[in-house]
Amino acid sequence: TNFGFQTVRDEEKEKLVGNVFSSVAKKYDQMNDAMSLGIHRLWKKHFIKRLNPGNSALPMRILDVAGGTGDIAFGILDYATKENKDTRSKVIVADINADMLRVGLRRARDTPYLDAGRLEFVQQNAEVLDKIADNSIDLYTIAFGIRNCTHISKVLEQAYRVLKPGGVFSCLEFSKVRFAPLAELYRQYSFRFLPLMGTIIAGDRDSYEYLVESIQKFPDQETLARMIKDAGFTLSGKTGYENMTFGVAAIHTAVKL
Ligand code: SAM
Repeated sequence: TNFGFQTVRDEEKEKLVGNVFSSVAKKYDQMNDAMSLGIHRLWKKHFIKRLNPGNSALPMRILDVAGGTGDIAFGILDYATKENKDTRSKVIVADINADMLRVGLRRARDTPYLDAGRLEFVQQNAEVLDKIADNSIDLYTIAFGIRNCTHISKVLEQAYRVLKPGGVFSCLEFSKVRFAPLAELYRQYSFRFLPLMGTIIAGDRDSYEYLVESIQKFPDQETLARMIKDAGFTLSGKTGYENMTFGVAAIHTAVKL
């Protein structure tokens, strides 16, 4: 069997991912802006807006998995507070990497949410989530995180477990560009520009080669939608996903019924 081999590979992936994010943690936010030409901000904004957090009568318990330096959590709380006048919903940021969480916590001190008890940081593997109770979450978000996990199906299984019935799962992740002329341009951008930028800004070519490879290997829109369905979710809309920037990224949304 190749079971032993697979286990070693899995451990290697976890270690590699750990190293990547520890080495980029301090520069992560700058890198994100540089590499995506700032577009990740627009994607995240749209991701949050379509979830419309804080729109319910009761305060929401929101879990942002692989939350890293906190972009999604802060965005959600800003949106809930400003757009929906909701000052009670809470976000738990869960991430496997202590260095990323440290940066997130430092950034959180510049927001009003930490003191207000609306923000919490926990070190957790998305595939385990052992500090999060069954049926306890109203909204589960994961942005540019699921790609870095070793077993996507375990992540989805845990998402399903922690969500309340009626709870919403939403995932923002790189996906596949189908439009041929753009696909080639994007390929060139990925294989030439990104690792070069990684070298220049972070002095870290390996991490950015990992980034490109992880995007290449990640399932396409339809495959991910199928996996979400297989975890027990009901896909939202016809396809369960929405493409961003011609499929460079996609938002998958589903409900635990
Ligand atoms: N969500 C943030 C954002 O959109 O800016 C951070 C995304 S960052 C590209 C990916 C994050 O996933 C890192 O903070 C990394 O530590 C985290 N991560 C990787 N594997 C994980 C796992 N198995 N469980 C939880 N978090 C994980």
